[in-house]
Amino acid sequence: MKVGNAALPAFAAILAGCQSLPGDAPLVPVDLLISGGTVYDGTGSPATADDLVISGGLVAYLGPDARSRFLPAREIDATGLVVAPGFIDPHTHAAGDLSSDRADRRANLPFAFQGVTTVVVGNDGGGSPDVAAQAELARAQGIGTNVAYLAGFGPIREEVLGKEDRAPEADEMAVMKARLRGAMCEGAWGFSAGLYYVPQAYSQTDEVVTLARVASGLGGYYDTHMRDESTYNVTVTGALAETLEIGRLADIPVHIAHIKALGPAVWGHSTRMIEAIEDARAAGQRVTADQYPWEASGTRISAALVPRSALEGGLDALRKRLKEPETRAAIRAAMVDGIARRGGASKLLITGRLGEAEIDTGLTLEEYAEAANIEPVDAAIAILMQGDARVASFNMSTDDIAAFAVRDWVVTGSDGSSGHPRKYGSFPKAYRDLVLGEPGMDLARFVERSSGQTAKLIGLQDRGRLAPGMAADVVIFDPVTFAPQATYQAPRELSVGVRHLFVNGEQVIAEGAYTGSLPGRPLLKRTACAQGNDDS
Ligand SMILES: [Zn+2]
Repeated sequence: MKVGNAALPAFAAILAGCQSLPGDAPLVPVDLLISGGTVYDGTGSPATADDLVISGGLVAYLGPDARSRFLPAREIDATGLVVAPGFIDPHTHAAGDLSSDRADRRANLPFAFQGVTTVVVGNDGGGSPDVAAQAELARAQGIGTNVAYLAGFGPIREEVLGKEDRAPEADEMAVMKARLRGAMCEGAWGFSAGLYYVPQAYSQTDEVVTLARVASGLGGYYDTHMRDESTYNVTVTGALAETLEIGRLADIPVHIAHIKALGPAVWGHSTRMIEAIEDARAAGQRVTADQYPWEASGTRISAALVPRSALEGGLDALRKRLKEPETRAAIRAAMVDGIARRGGASKLLITGRLGEAEIDTGLTLEEYAEAANIEPVDAAIAILMQGDARVASFNMSTDDIAAFAVRDWVVTGSDGSSGHPRKYGSFPKAYRDLVLGEPGMDLARFVERSSGQTAKLIGLQDRGRLAPGMAADVVIFDPVTFAPQATYQAPRELSVGVRHLFVNGEQVIAEGAYTGSLPGRPLLKRTACAQGNDDS
């Protein structure tokens, strides 16, 4: 639904003329007045009862008594509701939906119904460096929310080195740097890495630093799914040290994706992780993190359980290795460790099949193995011989989650991907857990960590706050009913409680229902890229 006002200026001028008393300014015609709500501006400031005026896709006014100055074409009474900047999700896997040929997927409703008006894509090092092409497609087809892009280490490395486990030669490094530079110049906001994942896992720290310097030179940030969130290789604390080192050596702000301590072996390590990050921040380093409010991460059998060395060359190469008795025995032993690291087979819930795998979803790996009367590790191998499976991996302690959640450098994120309720319910769940739940977080702080603070760390200057001139991305939600509906067993249920949602001033949700509009935009970083041959 478009808030149209084509005929209004003339009408308003007439009306203003009639009503004007000497000394009175004429009423200014505007698209929309939202009044009566509890307004949070996204900066962390306490709520006000201000009126919010939107016109031409921008916030026109935030303050008292708007009716004495403006003539709105339309009004929304937000009495009893919270009015806030649309939420910004710094870590999603929404790129596939946003480039779909289906409008219902491009609407990005799993996020919109959480109050999210901007998603970042390309995280975990997965983002295509072809930013301009993605933006062009989004513009041509229309999308429901805004999108901001990160350039991913994965495709850049794979284009040059394939899935090989080695360092790049100097000429290969130059190609990778040029590719990243190109992506930044096309509008990426930063460089994302997922050093946990093959083939990025084959990189050494200095390779990542070299690339991060390119992004740093162009004003970007470094977004990282760290090399280890558990005890796979360098341990989560070692991976955090590497992350901070990359930030220092490349002089780039670092943003840690979905911060966690994964698996019983590292439970409680939030304490030392927080200490390391706060020491770095105290020393002037720019470090932030996002967190999703769930005890289970979402991954695949292959990524969760198979050692990196066995994945060199991809899943087909893995299957060949599993057919050789000797390599099979070694991989099997490592996978037994992998299951233990994740807290046991009862902590791995199969939520989706991939490839040719014929498995029932909704069972844990333990239940699946019991039904087949085999060991869990052999059940996992059987799945991998056919394809792969998505799993919800229950591997986090509530104490660690709570410890990270209240730090002032942690923002709300979803890591939204298929087969996990976090894609549909992270923001309302974080609201219920943090504001209504135990820590009793101030709602102003919750809004800030879901909008203004996130905009700032990404570099979005015209989003995340309600102030004149800012883009009119606005969520109006009911603080009583705002809640997730998605569960691990039924992960694809839209959240409830968002009554109205505006993206660039156009309404995407009205009275709790999707309007059918696609007003989102690709948000591109404006980067001063010279001729492209300076060696940043
Ligand atoms: Zn990740």
